[in-house]
Order: sequence, then structure tokens, then C-alpha cells
Amino acid sequence: MDFSLEYTKEQAEFAKEVRRWLDENAPKDLVSPWDIRKTSPQEWQKRREFARKLGEKGWLYPRFPRQYGGGGLDVAHTFVVNEEIANRNLGPPPHYDSGGLAAPAILNCATEEQKKRFLPSMLKGEATTWQLFTEPDAGTDEANQQTSALRHVREKDHFVINGGKIFVGSIYGPPTQFLLLTKSDFEAPRHGNLAMFLAPANLPGITIQPLDLFPSGIFAQVGSGPGRKNSVFFDDVKIHESYLIGGDHDGWKVADATLTVEHGGGERVPRIPRNPVVEKFFAQCQNNPNVIKRLQENPELLHSVVDVYIGAQIERLWTLRNSGQPIRGGGPQLSMYGKMYGARLATVMASVLGPYAFADDEWALDDGIFETGERNAVCFAPGGTPEALKIVISRGLGIGR
Ligand SMILES: Cc1cc2nc3c(=O)[nH]c(=O)nc-3n(C[C@H](O)[C@H](O)[C@H](O)COP(=O)(O)OP(=O)(O)OC[C@H]3O[C@@H](n4cnc5c(N)ncnc54)[C@H](O)[C@@H]3O)c2cc1C
Repeated sequence: MDFSLEYTKEQAEFAKEVRRWLDENAPKDLVSPWDIRKTSPQEWQKRREFARKLGEKGWLYPRFPRQYGGGGLDVAHTFVVNEEIANRNLGPPPHYDSGGLAAPAILNCATEEQKKRFLPSMLKGEATTWQLFTEPDAGTDEANQQTSALRHVREKDHFVINGGKIFVGSIYGPPTQFLLLTKSDFEAPRHGNLAMFLAPANLPGITIQPLDLFPSGIFAQVGSGPGRKNSVFFDDVKIHESYLIGGDHDGWKVADATLTVEHGGGERVPRIPRNPVVEKFFAQCQNNPNVIKRLQENPELLHSVVDVYIGAQIERLWTLRNSGQPIRGGGPQLSMYGKMYGARLATVMASVLGPYAFADDEWALDDGIFETGERNAVCFAPGGTPEALKIVISRGLGIGR
């Protein structure tokens, strides 16, 4: 039952180098509340500074080619970097930046000139990126984009963008740029009528409006944090065609390259994620006398705890299996598993911890991590709902549309 990760001899040597570097460069005074909305702008800036240092070293995006600012490391060494960062509870900073989703798409779909122009600032942690795909009528039905990007009538090397996005970005805005999916052709067939831009976020005509959401983002520690999202509106926004990634009818292909990574496959940053909620929950089961007593008196509860323990290991191993796969490797089964697992974990935690699982104040256990975990567990939408993921899986199995 020991699922702990052991380094090879070579990895262990490299881990020493990483630890030495982290000793010198990692911030020592970071406060990491479970609820991302409690993170101050100053804390965010500290994470950004750390991201830039990692970027300078090539360890913010260890797997990416060195010529664009990545580390050029193989999967085995990248695991070490990410594991050592995670051991210090730092997560891959800067938290909530969709650069990790946009960069693989650019690497795979952009021109050489665009790669040289866009990738270094992203891989070095200087630029931040938001993913702008969802619209009121284009969530699960993502191909139904209504935000239009049409050629300027006089200046043919420009597009004009109009429309709006919802549920995008983070509490830390504005970003440097958007990975922006649009409709470029009102006549062409579905999927062949889209265009993707890496658009500067400060173009005239763009408005960002914050949206407070129910889930609050336990994963400040592991890199994201959807505590607050935004609507972004485009009102006659003029943009040069040099920001178009792929052709002006290739948007679906570029979106697919991004979503493959978001769903847990592709050239995703390899890491075997720790789930801090699970770790804290098991510490309670092992050490809290009240919880221990409850488990001893109730074998069914004990079984359910073992069940979520096994589930947590499956999720880790599944991530390991998916990491570093070629871009078409796929991983919606992992994403779907993670969402369903989160719901199962939340149910078991509520039964085992009782009301403490829902406390976010002086009564809360472990600074309210369980309450934040419970809230996030019911949020299936980011990256696609389980139903949407099942549709993708069915296609992969050759039984879908
Ligand atoms: C916290 C959070 C973070 C997010 N971050 C981003 C982001 O950074 N960038 C971005 O672009 N978007 C983001 N989103 C949006 C997210 O991708 C969408 O919410 C998601 O794709 C679902 O779309 P929807 O909300 O329009 O729901 P809908 O598509 O309207 O779906 C509603 C319900 O109907 C079901 N359903 C819909 N169609 C089908 C079907 N054909 N078959 C079976 N069931 C179906 C769905 O599964 C769901 O249960 C985020 C959302 C949240 C909540």
C-alpha cells in the first residue's frame, strides 16, 4: 500500500541541485490560504517574482524547448522539479495563469516567428494569459462561438472583434494577453469557421467585469484558483493579423490543442499532483481522537475512507501515466475521474468530519481547507463538465459522433 514516489539515483542527484536552488531562491514567508480570495495582492506579487526566477532558470516550463525559454528537460527531470516545488507547498506559480494551456497550443500551431515572439515572455513568467473560450451560448457547445472576428473592410491585415466571454480569467487581472476563440466566418460550416488569437489584453474596446463564484479555489497551492472569474467584452476591437494563431479557419484545431492539455493529456507539465485536501483529511483520520473514535465505531465509514484513499492513488498514478504524452495523447478520462472523485471525497469527508467539514471560521479544522474542498467539489464546469468529457471519451473510443 505504499504509493510514495522514489527517485532513481540520477533523479536523487538532480533533486539535490533543485533543493539547493530553491533554498536560495524560493520565498520563505509565503502565506497560502486555502481560499484564494484571502490571498493578498502582495502575496500574489511574491509568487509572480518567484515565477520569474523559475522562468529565468528554465524551470517554470521545464519541458519546453530551451530556444523559447523552457528548460529542455525530459519527463523524469521535470517530475523532480515539480515534486520539489510541491514539497515546499509553493505550487507552480504564478497561480491562475492559463499560459500552461496556451503555450502548448502556440508551440504546436503557431509560426516560427510567433513562437519566438510569444513564448519567451510566457515561459519566463513575465506574461500572464487568460483562456477566453466560454460564452453564454458556447460552454459545452464550444464550437458555437458568437464573438466575431471579421476582416477590417479597409485595412485587410486587421480583424475587428465584437462579442463577450464569460467565466474566464481570475481574481488577478488584467493579464498580459488572452487566448481568444472567435467566429471568423458566418458562411463556413461548424468547426471550420473559427479563429484563435493571442490578443493583448490592453487593446482599446476591451472591458473586464469581475464575477464572484461559489467555488473558491483550494488549488492556490497547486497552480489554479477559480475563486473569481470575469466577463470580458469586445467592442470593435481592432487587432493585427500577426496575433492570429494558425489560419483564420483553424481556430478549432488550436482550441483542441489547448483542451487536450486542459483535460489532462498532451505535453502537460508533468507532475504527480498532491491533493492537499486528501492529505489533511487523512491526517485527521490518523491523529484526531474524535475522528479515530468515529471510524472505529463505524466500519462502513472506515471502508469509505479506504475507498477514497485508493481513489487518490489512482488519480496520482493516472496523472503519471498521462504526463509527457504527445499532444494528441488525450486525458479526458483523468479529468472526469478527478471531478467524480472530488465529489466522492466531499461526501466521505462530510460523513467522517461532521459539521467541521463545513466550517470556515474559528471552528474550522486545518484553517478551513475542508470547507473550501467541499465547495469546490460541486463545481464540475471548469475544463468541461463530466457529460462533455464523456462525449470526448466516446469519440476517442470510436463510439461517439
Ligand atoms: C470555476 C470556473 C472556471 C472556469 N474557467 C474558464 C476559463 O478560464 N476559460 C473559459 O473559457 N471558460 C472557463 N469556464 C467555463 C467552463 O468551461 C464552462 O462553464 C463549461 O464548459 C460548461 O459550460 P456552461 O457553463 O455554458 O454550461 P452548459 O454548456 O450550458 O451546460 C449546462 C449543463 O448541461 C449539460 N450539457 C450541455 N450539453 C450537453 C450535451 N450535449 N449532452 C449532455 N449534457 C450536456 C452540461 O454537462 C451541464 O451539466 C470556467 C467555469 C467555471 C465554473
